[in-house]
Amino acid sequence: MFKVKYYFDESTLTFKRVRLVKKQKIKRIISFLFITGITAIFINILLSNYYTTPKLSKLTNNRYELITKYDLLQDKLSDVNTALKEIQHRDDYLYRTIFELEPVSSSIRLAGFGGSNRYIELEDFENSGIMIETSKQIDAITNQLVVQSKSFDVVIEYAKNKELMLACIPAIQPVAIKDFDRISDYFGQRSDPFNNQPTMHYGMDFTGPEGSEVFVTGDGVVVEAGHSLFGYGNRITIDHGFGYKTVYAHLQEIDVVPGQKIKRGEVIGKLGNTGRSTGNHLHYEVRMYDKPIDPINYYFNDITADEYDQMILALSKRRIPMD
Ligand SMILES: [Zn+2]
Repeated sequence: MFKVKYYFDESTLTFKRVRLVKKQKIKRIISFLFITGITAIFINILLSNYYTTPKLSKLTNNRYELITKYDLLQDKLSDVNTALKEIQHRDDYLYRTIFELEPVSSSIRLAGFGGSNRYIELEDFENSGIMIETSKQIDAITNQLVVQSKSFDVVIEYAKNKELMLACIPAIQPVAIKDFDRISDYFGQRSDPFNNQPTMHYGMDFTGPEGSEVFVTGDGVVVEAGHSLFGYGNRITIDHGFGYKTVYAHLQEIDVVPGQKIKRGEVIGKLGNTGRSTGNHLHYEVRMYDKPIDPINYYFNDITADEYDQMILALSKRRIPMD
């Protein structure tokens, strides 16, 4: 390990080997180990900063994969949140309205979890931000689901006592799905088909062959059945009680008379093109206390959640106003 050293002995004129005492030997060994250690640490730092080992490369890939997974999770949570908002909206403005219950206040719906920092154990990581944010989103959705579930419990309790009311509320589509080609126009602002002026459309239009059967959407009494002077053509209005009325316009034929009591699903007339109309279609309105409301939430007896979503999606597509 160490070089053998010699010195010149002038008295004997010979080279003699240098003998180190034990203490000096230990000192030299320690110095050697110290320098070797420092050099190893230095090389290690150099390598880890400028060169990637397979192990390090794998760890880096795992880290990127984890971040990508968190991003995907956040996208999915955003979809869940959107679906939840739709359920909350239907709960507040349809189910609870039917039973004359106040909507659940937003302070209750959005109340957070109490207590001190719930996410303390997620702090001090390189990706703490995204981990804490994701956990917060999951907690918020969980909390809102608990509130929603309780609200449904209340609604179910009311529903048990309100069978009559449920029979009267408009709850089906007024034209059989096999008969109508499409929903050509929805409730809301759009161009008038006759003069292209921005106009409010107060109902939904179902296009289909002339003569297709038109059904009453809830139990009620016929309050009007005849030709309208206001562009509706042959029109039927049904009073369902509980503040609800429905209107069926541009009919080819009217099969009921004022005062007649009818049950949900009975045929009341035939689809047509009478009055201010550009083609065969049924203009259908739902009114609450004589104020037109969006009928889109009143088909809950015969459409699935998917079909409802498709209808909502169609709202953003091209509309064909027929009035
Ligand atoms: Zn219309």
